[in-house]
Amino acid sequence: MKEEIKAHNSVLELIGNTPLIKLNKITQKMKGNYFAKVEAFNPGHSTKDRIALYIIEEAERKGILKPGDTIIETTSGNTGFSIAMVSIIKGYECILAVSSKSSADKIDMLKTMGAKVYVCPAHVSADDPRSYYEVAKKLHSEIKGSVYINQYFNELNIDAHYQTTGPEIWEQTAGKITHLVACSGTGGTISGTARFLKEKNPHIRIIGIDAYGSVLQKYHQTKEFDTNEIYPYRIEGLGKNLIPSATDFNIIDKFEKVTDESSAHTARELAKTEGLFVGYTSGAAMQGLKQLEEEGEFAADSNIVVIFPDHGSRYMSKIYNDEWMQQQGFFDSETAEIHKIEYI
Ligand code: PMP
Repeated sequence: MKEEIKAHNSVLELIGNTPLIKLNKITQKMKGNYFAKVEAFNPGHSTKDRIALYIIEEAERKGILKPGDTIIETTSGNTGFSIAMVSIIKGYECILAVSSKSSADKIDMLKTMGAKVYVCPAHVSADDPRSYYEVAKKLHSEIKGSVYINQYFNELNIDAHYQTTGPEIWEQTAGKITHLVACSGTGGTISGTARFLKEKNPHIRIIGIDAYGSVLQKYHQTKEFDTNEIYPYRIEGLGKNLIPSATDFNIIDKFEKVTDESSAHTARELAKTEGLFVGYTSGAAMQGLKQLEEEGEFAADSNIVVIFPDHGSRYMSKIYNDEWMQQQGFFDSETAEIHKIEYI
């Protein structure tokens, strides 16, 4: 028999189908069986590869995008990176309007992936013509045939996870999943995954992880947009200061809030216990699991799936940097890990 070359045609073929990995040590004293859907295994190292590919391919199917057209988005984070990656391979221009708060590292990463980056002042209101929202809108209206991803208000963000993440988890757990725990930012991941899973089994509990300083939990409870809930916090990608239409609040059973400090420590603990080097919101999701378990959310035979959205390498100057942790007041001087390196 003739041997075939076993190669992928491009990294796009590696998007999705991420592994489900059992959590063993960090959950040792916790009731239930815990499984992590580790999205860092996507080629762009985050769950955002799924929405970038899905939304761009939907636009192609509808005939909106033609080779050489432009894709626009307003993020320096994971979504920007994923859109840039997909654009390179498919031959589109990628324009990202980002806030001047974005780190130089992030901007360099996006430029490396071929994106054109507009840096917009951070401290102007959203309706100021210089804000990244307004700059993106203006570019979208001026550039013929451009597509504006607009992830917080794009229903296709939910669909991407309904079509991929939901079915994968259902199959990987052989339909035995009892709880889904996922961070909520745009809400696309939790809403789309939950929509698929609840269609299969409406008894599956859906729990969103939110940040202190975000409006999501209060809005879910009261349907009121309470600006008193909004204050600065450090975790990036989790929680929000507006109500995204990409979040289906009706499908989420409850929200659990986590702190910046506990989430940072729990992310570090995941590396030390499970060998999982994952991002800040993965630490937040794991921290949420610990709190929920203490609150009695899980039974001994519960099968809990938690989504870990991205890789730890994007947080080297934050939670995985001891000086940063100390500056935030996250280390007390007695337990500081800062002195553990031995120089010879
Ligand atoms: N974690 C990280 C690191 C993210 O970038 C995001 C996206 N904002 C999320 C979690 C939340 O995912 P979603 O937007 O699908 O709710």
